[in-house]
Amino acid sequence: MKPILREWLAKMEQDGMMKRISREVDPINELAAVGKKLEPQYGALFEHVRGSSMPVVTGVITSRDGMAKSMGMSYEELLQDFNHALSNPTPCKVLEKEQGPFAIKENILTGDQVDLGILPACLHHEKDSSRYLTAALCIAKDPETGIRNVCIHRHEIKDRNHLGALLLPRHTNQMFSKAEAMGKPLEIALAIGVHPSLLLASQATTALGVDEFEIAGSLLGEPVELVKCETVDLEVPVESEIIIEGKILPNVREEEGPFGEYPKTYGAKAPRHVIEITAITYRNNPIYHTIIPATMEHLLLGGISREATMMQVIRQATPNVKKVHITPASGCRYHVVIQLDQKHEGEAKNAMFAAFTSSTEVKHVVVVDTDIDIYDMQDVEWAISNRVQAARDVFIIPNAMGNKLDPSSRGGASDKMGIDATIPMSDKRERFQKIHIAGYEDINLKDYL
Ligand code: MN
Repeated sequence: MKPILREWLAKMEQDGMMKRISREVDPINELAAVGKKLEPQYGALFEHVRGSSMPVVTGVITSRDGMAKSMGMSYEELLQDFNHALSNPTPCKVLEKEQGPFAIKENILTGDQVDLGILPACLHHEKDSSRYLTAALCIAKDPETGIRNVCIHRHEIKDRNHLGALLLPRHTNQMFSKAEAMGKPLEIALAIGVHPSLLLASQATTALGVDEFEIAGSLLGEPVELVKCETVDLEVPVESEIIIEGKILPNVREEEGPFGEYPKTYGAKAPRHVIEITAITYRNNPIYHTIIPATMEHLLLGGISREATMMQVIRQATPNVKKVHITPASGCRYHVVIQLDQKHEGEAKNAMFAAFTSSTEVKHVVVVDTDIDIYDMQDVEWAISNRVQAARDVFIIPNAMGNKLDPSSRGGASDKMGIDATIPMSDKRERFQKIHIAGYEDINLKDYL
């Protein structure tokens, strides 16, 4: 299927998942506050945003099932397809000029026309240093190999043609370092208003040298279609709403931040990379997308790719694992709940070891039986309260590698804790059975109220 954001938004609206807001809102604080109140039940399309003619959408995915549905599959299928796509990429299709006209070229601003101020970029949290772009795919090419990389960074609006950026020590940063060593800038293109599948693919855990759009192509079952940029030697998704072209400047660093981040804490101000903008192109009546940090939309993008990888690693250790949930309260990073159809004594512990090895960020792992709903934290707590004896079922490994952003870590070193909340194999299972009202599932309250 073709990854078209507008089609997905129409589907969400049809299904009652997207609220349309016609009252004018301020992109400073107000938009984020309203969007945050609506999520994760609803996404929001703000038709009138002060200071810009562009409408703003947020919450294009707010659940695992929603993400899967945007690609026409179940969540279980999405996890499987995601892992398959990682090892079976589908090359992109670059469309030639004659195959146009392309909507993304309906408006082209270059030179003095470039003004980031036309965008309804939001100030999300009260201590953020500026308005930020939060839903832009960052597309660049390795200056040595020419292979494309796609990811998401936060971008601080500095002035009409400059953005700040936080480039964590990952692929864009590595590619920029190569360019900077040659004394050159790194050309980039930012795509705003893209289909959820492209956002998800950009979060794949891969080696440098894998084009994330090729992973998206495999997920979608057809090549992602791209068109050439105007001022940089890059290609961008033809169905994007807005494209910003520019270059990361060599030997330039300016203060960026603070910015409210996924762990629900602020990332501190520090000298960081600066991008000079060379062009902005957009469709007529473009839809601008903002991801409000630390909402389900934000957390799930990273969480789903982590769950897919983790599921694969744990299944190698023990095939009886049914489901994996990396919880949103932990930023979809630190807490894992595993559902296991335990067949052998000690199997729960093997599943935990595998979960810890799948990502350095994992801190606490709980394993439960198949009668526990791992997405219902009340149910998970019930299992911990009724099936755990701490001296027997809890283990702690001190001082392993963790995540520096965790404020409780010691320079990134972190303890790991496993909680086995499964019924011990040697115990009588009836003693642990949940109460149940016969016929409960068949009752429809509408028939009674
Ligand atoms: Mn990459």
